[in-house]
Amino acid sequence: MRVKVFKFGGASIKDADGFRQVGKIMETFIEDRIVIVVSALGKTTNAIEQVVNSMFSGKADTAKWVGQVKNTHVQIMDDLFAKHPETLSKVEVAFAQLFEAFTDAIGRFEGADYDYAYDQIVPYGELFSSKILSHYLEAIHVHNTWIDIRQVISTDMTYRDARIMWEATQQQVESVLKPMIPNCKRMVTQGFVGRTSQNTMTTLGREGSDYTAAILTYCLDAESMHIWKDVPGVLTGDPRVFNDVMLLPRLSYKEAIEMTYYGAKVIHPKTIKPIQNKQIPLYVRPYADPKSLGTLISDEKELTYPPIVVIEPGQALLHISTNDFSFVAEHHLSRIFMLLAKYRLKVNMMRNTAISFSVCVGQIEDRIQGFVEELGDEFKVVIDRSLELITIMHYNNDFLEEMKHNKLILFEEKLPEIVQLVVRNLPKMTRKEHGDQ
Ligand code: ADP
Ligand code: ASP
Ligand code: MG
Repeated sequence: MRVKVFKFGGASIKDADGFRQVGKIMETFIEDRIVIVVSALGKTTNAIEQVVNSMFSGKADTAKWVGQVKNTHVQIMDDLFAKHPETLSKVEVAFAQLFEAFTDAIGRFEGADYDYAYDQIVPYGELFSSKILSHYLEAIHVHNTWIDIRQVISTDMTYRDARIMWEATQQQVESVLKPMIPNCKRMVTQGFVGRTSQNTMTTLGREGSDYTAAILTYCLDAESMHIWKDVPGVLTGDPRVFNDVMLLPRLSYKEAIEMTYYGAKVIHPKTIKPIQNKQIPLYVRPYADPKSLGTLISDEKELTYPPIVVIEPGQALLHISTNDFSFVAEHHLSRIFMLLAKYRLKVNMMRNTAISFSVCVGQIEDRIQGFVEELGDEFKVVIDRSLELITIMHYNNDFLEEMKHNKLILFEEKLPEIVQLVVRNLPKMTRKEHGDQ
């Protein structure tokens, strides 16, 4: 029997009721074999990032953030297990052990390389949440086995943005996970986390739990993957930004890849490709309403779509020209691209003219600074900051004009099905009624 892979994000398990809802969902899939991948609960990853940042900035508030991480988990456990006192003592012991390892890591990695230290500390969020979920499901008789995903997901050593070592991961899925499947109907494990050949922890980039679920779906040859969300499915825009958004009941892999590549926050961008390679259906569905199938992402082609908008804030435009006013030639471009790759600046849009090359990248200041410094004296770089990249798929002209309202357009690129704009939001100017003449 093929397994289903379920992924629950922090938004779905932000409080005790969220865990209870996961329990209810599992009770509706009582016949299925399911691998559950969870993120850290609520905003725990942000809080643990604060722990790491305070360690590195020398601020004296590390203890405050550690205390906050602990309190959030303790409060949820007290609430969730109030009616299951026999499980409360077990989960408390398990949590205390993990928490000790977490505080020990905080002491041990002070002064180490930032990205490396981050990855030895931040994944505890997923270890905590998965332990709590596993014990809770046990308490309500949804029997399951807790799996330490570090035994399975192998990565390189790019800390905070680790790449999957597919062959090693597949081998570990064969040797660790697959033999367990006949005897354990449900597994509960962590997203976001991997392990290097040196036995150190890595993370797959923020929001990487979706990607973990996709890796397991691929390697287990699962029947389907289900991402449970706090929204009805994939919508035509982010409901936090737009009022009139619509559910997309079906989406092709290609559309989903493009949406997430351009920055739609609903799924991690690396998630779709492995699933598409094996043509496994992916459902993005509401955790509040388990009967709804939400959005089905599959190989369906030739669907007609309404306009879909993706907004990626925090962009910078780098205008690069040569200092001697010579043309920007191929050898210049090759150097620019080499350095963009070295500083991991993802190119979101670019334009080449005779005397300048402009590129839109995420505004990650330390990387931009390293890039500009290494480009050296041969080049002049002018930077526009605090911009937005707006991508509209399946646009029409009215929709496009509406999106441009009150914006200064710095870049526009129109393809038949896609428009991209790099914009600065303009302040709303209203005329003073009795202004000085
Ligand atoms: P999780 O913790 O489950 O990973 P996230 O907060 O990371 O949840 O992602 C869910 C959020 O993604 C939604 O609450 C919604 O605001 C946002 N989002 C952005 N773009 C879209 C979109 N096109 N469709 C649906 N949700 C979107
Ligand atoms: N907990 C991690 C994060 O917040 C991974 C995830 O949620 O997917 O980025
Ligand atoms: Mg998420």
